[in-house]
Amino acid sequence: MSIASTLSNTAPANAPRIAVIGAGLAGLSAAWLLKQKYQVTLFESHGTPGMGVYTSDYHSNGLHSRVDIPLRIFTKGYYPELFSLYKYLGVEMESSDHSAVYQYQNTHKEKRPKAFFQYHNQTLFNKNIRLPNKNTLTPKGLRLTLSHFQFFKQIESDSQDTMALSNMTFGEYVNQQNFNKHYIDEMLLPALSVTCTCDYQDILNYPCDLIVEYLACGVMNEGIVRAKLGVDDIVPRLTQGYRVRCFEQVQSIEEKTNESPSIRVTSKNSQTQEVSIQEFDYVIIATQANVAHDILSKNTLTSQAKLLANIPVQSSSMILHTDSSQVYHAKKASPVSYIIDKTQKRPSTSVDLTKAFSSYQHQAPIYQTWNPIKPPKESHVLSRAHFTRPLVTLQSRQSVAQLMELNKRSSIKICGSYMVNKIPLLDAAVASSINIAKQMGCTIPWEENTDKPLEPLNNAELAY
Ligand SMILES: Cc1cc2nc3c(=O)[nH]c(=O)nc-3n(C[C@H](O)[C@H](O)[C@H](O)COP(=O)(O)OP(=O)(O)OC[C@H]3O[C@@H](n4cnc5c(N)ncnc54)[C@H](O)[C@@H]3O)c2cc1C
Repeated sequence: MSIASTLSNTAPANAPRIAVIGAGLAGLSAAWLLKQKYQVTLFESHGTPGMGVYTSDYHSNGLHSRVDIPLRIFTKGYYPELFSLYKYLGVEMESSDHSAVYQYQNTHKEKRPKAFFQYHNQTLFNKNIRLPNKNTLTPKGLRLTLSHFQFFKQIESDSQDTMALSNMTFGEYVNQQNFNKHYIDEMLLPALSVTCTCDYQDILNYPCDLIVEYLACGVMNEGIVRAKLGVDDIVPRLTQGYRVRCFEQVQSIEEKTNESPSIRVTSKNSQTQEVSIQEFDYVIIATQANVAHDILSKNTLTSQAKLLANIPVQSSSMILHTDSSQVYHAKKASPVSYIIDKTQKRPSTSVDLTKAFSSYQHQAPIYQTWNPIKPPKESHVLSRAHFTRPLVTLQSRQSVAQLMELNKRSSIKICGSYMVNKIPLLDAAVASSINIAKQMGCTIPWEENTDKPLEPLNNAELAY
């Protein structure tokens, strides 16, 4: 693989030293941008830069492929910074089919979940339209289709004035409107709870403007894409020109006033158990919010730590497996299968990779399932990954606004997908690192009128 030599202007040896803690996309992109003016060391607790920790090998039909967990899909409208970064790096992107089937959890008599709505995407006048499949052309299916169009019409109109929505929760908004309850409970909330990897109630607690902005910016009528070669392609491009220390779990940081360099970073190597202390002029904490809180609270409880305590997180697991019983019909099911069980707080959701992405189409069916109601057969499980994800509430957003203010004047800066006023997705992770890079005097190559080409640097084909 040829790696584009992007942003090669690495800082001189006497440049200020900066530690970036955490190699998710926020930490990786922050380190990559900051290397222009700083000597950067990136700390990651896992054995590989975090974004690629759970990537797995898949062998079937005589073919081998790599599967990212999670899949990390995105759309152009909601991900301007991610798109610009990937485009600048020359990351190849491919479109995906994320049409879905919604099913009820089966009763004891039936073996498989029962589909109540299934749609496919059709492109009409350059727009992606959802059309119901024949099997769910029932009165209920038609009512849900109509409700979907009515809902989006309303959302588009309300998105014109998101200020008016910024003090209410999405739940309050939904209650005020006359939307079809089945559509909201059985289709919209399941889809949003997958997007945000959280419970239905957490979606209802989200600030309304964030959800409306997300839904109104084209997610329904633009195709969904992903980086075709996944994190294996992205991480090497973002780890050029600075020092990466894997297996290095940062335990605490301590700020020394009147000393230079002024911040002491204590980390422990999980292989050798060796504890090391290094000194830096600046530290960017790009771990999950709860970890950032713990790192900052080891010595004295700083104002940043107090604010970080207000950011709620949700945990969940993703399973990569080949058990087709997670979907109602291995052949007929759409690429994405939601199973709704009214006793559950989240849907069970499976993506059949061989249907969603052309890269896997010649392999035997393989699924990523989030929150399985019935666990896949153990003999079919290829891997499991456990994640923690931030949530946004009206209160947590106020704490984030204060953290963003503190970032401007502190040598310890907080970075991550939760550190911008958006749903904490990949775009927010990049946007957060851009904010910090700009505060620290670095340029954003795709925003600058530089002599660097903005087109993909290695002739990568944008396949979407
Ligand atoms: C199941 C799931 C599916 C998702 N799917 C999508 C999707 O399809 N599209 C999308 O846009 N977003 C998706 N997201 C959200 C997306 O993954 C996050 O927005 C993004 O990963 C956040 O990046 P980050 O760098 O802020 O944090 P993280 O990715 O959480 O990175 C934090 C890093 O810090 C490291 N770390 C933690 N503690 C320490 C320590 N003490 N010392 C050193 N390193 C440490 C961790 O190992 C990790 O690598 C999904 C999230 C989940 C959980």
